[in-house]
Amino acid sequence: MGTDDWVAALSLSEETAETVRTQFEHSEYRGLTYRHLSNARHGVERGTAVVDGEVVRGFPSIPRALVLEPAVEAHFDGPVTIEEKLNGYNVRVARLDGIPDENGEPAADEQVLAFTRSGYICPYTTSKVRDLLEPGTFFDDYPELMLCGELVGPENPYTAHDYPEVASAGVSVFDVRNRVTGEPLSVERRRELCEEYDFSQVPSFGTHDPERATTAAFDAIEDLDERGREGVVLKSADGRTLVKYTTSFTHRDDLAYAFSLPFDYGRDFVFARIIREVFQAVEFEESDAEVRERAQKLGEAIVEPAVETIREVRAGNDVGEAHTVRDEPDVVEELLVHLENMGITMQIQDDHREGHERVVTFQKISEATRDNAQNYFDGQLLDE
Ligand code: ATP
Ligand code: MG
Repeated sequence: MGTDDWVAALSLSEETAETVRTQFEHSEYRGLTYRHLSNARHGVERGTAVVDGEVVRGFPSIPRALVLEPAVEAHFDGPVTIEEKLNGYNVRVARLDGIPDENGEPAADEQVLAFTRSGYICPYTTSKVRDLLEPGTFFDDYPELMLCGELVGPENPYTAHDYPEVASAGVSVFDVRNRVTGEPLSVERRRELCEEYDFSQVPSFGTHDPERATTAAFDAIEDLDERGREGVVLKSADGRTLVKYTTSFTHRDDLAYAFSLPFDYGRDFVFARIIREVFQAVEFEESDAEVRERAQKLGEAIVEPAVETIREVRAGNDVGEAHTVRDEPDVVEELLVHLENMGITMQIQDDHREGHERVVTFQKISEATRDNAQNYFDGQLLDE
């Protein structure tokens, strides 16, 4: 595909195409410049990337139900599959031509690449999906498709949620779509293909009639909440209608994370999570005692991590998310450069070899939290 044909591949009117074209950011992968869209525009999903004229469509934003029963009734009119929503980061895997190899030379073969939510090609994620999925034969058979999955586990540069079944990093497929149009395969077909090519996939809580789906989803939510897991995504058989719903555990967990860096994330997170808790308590018909317990746990999730962080700042320490990554030394080096190019300030806390792998622990420095808090310890007043 020529470099100008990509706009045509997005099926936009000429006028919209011009506006959308100007919204794309430019990034580099091994010296190759590519474009990606960091916010949804005119129906083109966030994360849509164009590499050497080839389109990799973004993954759509999944709407959330605050009250599940009426949402299911309003949006589903056939069988509903309930799948676990894993808490990691979104990755799209596609195979493209014309990509440089590790020496920056055009690779002889088409290359499998991993795109993160906002459309960056991530060298670390790329290496992980190649090892974990080994998708070569899948792309021989279906070059026009992309795999959409969640990368989870403790050793990754972006998220921190632990899963007991994942020691380092794992990827679970939850969707298979046409790479250019973003059209999904049906749930059944996708699950069959994942079996056939031996891809690990998100757990399923079965397929249900719409009348039974809410009860089944609530059973799943109760179980997931007890196990400290995130939630569910409800899907129509054709894979086009998606609705997410999350556990109380995850609302608290999100808040604890946000308020561990209060001046970086606190404000953006707090209102939405409180509202989710309120509607869940009402839909679950909770007693006064249950509501009180929910409220207390929510308060703890907000205040305790924030106090801990502010004490760190007072002691003169840096604050920020810590991540550990592990791979071949070249891959880790490429990742660190990639993160720097994204404007992230990092402090390496540990860097060692284990066999042929390099294992690095680093902290992403959260300047907003550190500097704001420090100012208050220096006597700054607030105008409120
Ligand atoms: P956005 O909806 O804009 O991506 P977000 O980060 O708030 O923003 P989430 O609340 O995490 O999104 O919910 C959607 C994401 O859930 C998907 O993009 C995907 O990465 C993840 N996910 C995990 N498990 C599944 C699943 N079984 N089916 C679909 N998506 C899943
Ligand atoms: Mg998520």
